[in-house]
Amino acid sequence: MTEQYDVAVIGGGPSGSTAAHLLAEGGAKVLVIEREVFPRFHIGESLLPASMEVFERLGFDPCTKDHVRKAGAQFFDEPKGLAATYLFSDSLGGAAHAYQVDRAAFDLALIEGAERAGATVHQGERVTDVELDEHGRPPIVKTTKGRYEARYVLDATGLDSFFGYANGSRRRIDAFGLGAIFAHYADLKPEIATELAVTGNVKIMFLDDGWIWAIPLGEGRLSVGLVTRRKGLQTHWLDEAMAQSPEMRRILEGATQVGPHHRLASFSFFNDQSYGPRWSCIGDAACFLDPVFSSGVTFAMLGAARAADRLVPALAGGHEGGAELMSEHAAEMKHAYDVFATIILAFYRRRVLPDLFFTSEQSSVLRKGMTSILAGDVWRGDNDFLDMLWRSRMRVQLERGV
Ligand SMILES: Cc1cc2nc3c(=O)[nH]c(=O)nc-3n(C[C@H](O)[C@H](O)[C@H](O)COP(=O)(O)OP(=O)(O)OC[C@H]3O[C@@H](n4cnc5c(N)ncnc54)[C@H](O)[C@@H]3O)c2cc1C
Repeated sequence: MTEQYDVAVIGGGPSGSTAAHLLAEGGAKVLVIEREVFPRFHIGESLLPASMEVFERLGFDPCTKDHVRKAGAQFFDEPKGLAATYLFSDSLGGAAHAYQVDRAAFDLALIEGAERAGATVHQGERVTDVELDEHGRPPIVKTTKGRYEARYVLDATGLDSFFGYANGSRRRIDAFGLGAIFAHYADLKPEIATELAVTGNVKIMFLDDGWIWAIPLGEGRLSVGLVTRRKGLQTHWLDEAMAQSPEMRRILEGATQVGPHHRLASFSFFNDQSYGPRWSCIGDAACFLDPVFSSGVTFAMLGAARAADRLVPALAGGHEGGAELMSEHAAEMKHAYDVFATIILAFYRRRVLPDLFFTSEQSSVLRKGMTSILAGDVWRGDNDFLDMLWRSRMRVQLERGV
């Protein structure tokens, strides 16, 4: 027998769980199908303050031993002896902090939250096919364990971008980072662990062909990674990059790696077709740009919440089958992606932005505006820094390519 749901959510990462939670709260009968069994390792640990409004709606409290409060971001250009700290409290308004999260614990808490809100969650089950009906009848979702009928399907499959691959609409972006190597460390020196935990800042070290991150996590652990423009990823590049950086050598002295190295390549893409009749993509399945400004999870959750807000009344009114249901939502999200694509491209092309980071001559208005963008606060209408970016030649519009 084919079980029937209002919404089938494919993938139970931050976007899938957020949407499922809010949809279930809104009265929808929701099924989340997640291929892994949680907890499981996932990269994407540094969040932006704009995520806090979603945490509030989910009733999610990140103050646990696994996560660290994050006050801002520190950027280093070590060969030039430059460093700058951006504190989210120095923005145009909005939440003044975010969190650095252990994704195994974070994703587990979010999916359990969705379940408590009333969603049915199937873990260890992979979606293999979605049959869309050309006459507008509910799609059929086929998995490794069964088949389900749903009035609407949300693709929250992350970089696997189920519909993006199925439709051939996943357009790669080659102008940003091409690959990443990352690992977790423990046993930091106690004074270093304390220093890192006090601010919880993410550290970003510029390199000639990429950059390094250092993200403090709970219980004195540290996530480190290299994002590179070089092709043919080699695991030893991470250790070599860290050895080049005096700041990394300082904070990692005596620390030990826990778990394996991880590698990921070809993660940057824009999905040209992110919605259609009775389906849409949320989170990375719609777009993932680059990790450098930590926008991924925040926009995944904000986008999922916004999509759920459109879907709840549509389901209640029986007009969820409209082909344009998500067109305004996709345009809102594209604005967010364009803003970040613009600053990310400026970062990789070494145009203006790296200099702007380190100058002490920014006007306070521009600095606050830039900090607001770094906080993920991209939809406000009073940001002079954003207006300046939009008027400049640096502006990226993803539909025209990068
Ligand atoms: C190197 C690197 C570093 C990053 N660092 C950061 C960072 O510091 N901060 C930040 O905010 N973001 C970061 N990101 C991005 C972040 O990882 C993502 O934006 C975020 O995880 C997106 O959430 P999501 O729910 O859309 O997808 P995911 O978290 O990827 O979840 C998708 C889920 O779908 C499941 N799934 C996939 N296919 C199927 C299927 N067929 N059937 C059932 N289930 C399926 C997967 O198992 C997975 O659990 C980074 C990304 C990379 C590549």
